[in-house]
Amino acid sequence: MNQPLTVDQIRRAPKVLLHDHLDGGLRPATVVELARETGYTGLPTYDAQELGRWFREASDSGSLERYLETFAHTTAVMQTRDALVRVAAEAAEDLAADGVVYAEQRYAPEQHLEAGLTLEEVVEAVQEGLELGRKRAADQGRSIRTGQLVTAMRHAARSSEIAELAVRYRDAGVAGFDIAGAEAGNPPTRHLDAFEYLRRENFHFTIHAGEAFGLPSIWEALQWCGCDRLGHGVRIIDDIDTDTGGAPRLGRLAQYVRDKRVPLEMCPSSNVQTGAAESIADHPIRLLRDLRFRVTVNTDNRLQSGTSLSEEFARLCEAFGYGWDDVQWFTVNAMKSAFLPFDERLALINGVIKPGFAQLKWTTS
Ligand SMILES: [Zn+2]
Repeated sequence: MNQPLTVDQIRRAPKVLLHDHLDGGLRPATVVELARETGYTGLPTYDAQELGRWFREASDSGSLERYLETFAHTTAVMQTRDALVRVAAEAAEDLAADGVVYAEQRYAPEQHLEAGLTLEEVVEAVQEGLELGRKRAADQGRSIRTGQLVTAMRHAARSSEIAELAVRYRDAGVAGFDIAGAEAGNPPTRHLDAFEYLRRENFHFTIHAGEAFGLPSIWEALQWCGCDRLGHGVRIIDDIDTDTGGAPRLGRLAQYVRDKRVPLEMCPSSNVQTGAAESIADHPIRLLRDLRFRVTVNTDNRLQSGTSLSEEFARLCEAFGYGWDDVQWFTVNAMKSAFLPFDERLALINGVIKPGFAQLKWTTS
C-alpha cells in the first residue's frame, strides 16, 4: 500500500474551506498581544505556547463549559476595530499559507459590540482585514478569495436584525448567513422570520444542525427553514442503518439529503472533541463519502482543535487510506457548495483546483 499523503504534500493542493470560525482561528500569540493591548486580564496564561496548549486541552476536556470558555477569551480580545482587522487579516494569510484558495469566514457580529462598535463597523472591519490578508498573501505569491458568513446566535433574539445586516452587505463581502450556538433547546425554527426574509431576498444560508442534536434538528433546518447547507450534519448517520445483508439502507431524510445534494460541512477533529463522533476512525464521513453524499471537509476552530485544513485531510488519509482523488473529490464538493455565483465556482474548479491536483498527481506519482 502507498504511504498516506503527508501534511506538507496536502498543503500544496488548492483547497476550499466553508466552515471556519473567525473567533476560533486566532494565533495564540495574537490572543496574548491583543489581550495586553486592550487590557484584557482574563487569560489563563500570557505565554503564547502554553496558551495554545490550554486552548486544545480545554476543547478536548469533554466539558462544554470549558469549551465555551475558550470563545469567551477570543471574543474578549476582538472588540475593537484594529483587533478585528488584525484577526481577519491573519486568518486570510494563514489559510493562504495552508493552500486554501477559497474560504468562507464566519463570526457573530453581535459578539463584538462590547467596546462600542456598531454591527456595521464590525462587518466593515472584518472585510478590511480579509482584504489586507488577501493582499499580503498575494505579495507572497499566494492567491485566496474569501467571503464572510454573518452568524446569528441561536439562543439570542437578534436573528432578523443580523439577517438584514448580512443582506445589506451582500455586495461588500458578505456571502451568506448562519446560525450557531447551543443546539439543544434552541431549534432553528425559533428563527423562521429570519430565514423567510433571507429566502425572499434570494440569499444563501447554512445552519449548524445535527452536531450535538439529532435528526429533528437537521429536518427542521432543511424542511422548515430551507437552508442551503448543513453545518456538520453528522447525525444524518442516525437515519442510515443496514439491511440483513449488511448493505446500507437510507431513511427518508438521509435519502432526501443525498438526492438533493445537500452539502454537509463536516469538521472531523471538532466533531471528535464535541462528541459528535467517537474518533476519526469512527467518523461517519467514511460511510457518507462511500454513499456519495455531498460531504465537505472543514476545520471549524483551528485554534481550539490545533489544526489546519491540510491536517484534517492528513488525518482522514491516514485513517481511511484516502489519496489525491479523494482529497480532490472533497475539494470539488466544497467548491460546488460555496456561496459564490455559479460561474465563479466553475472558474475556480476548472482554472485552479483541477489543474492544481493534476500537477500534484503528476509530480508525486
Ligand atoms: Zn461551527
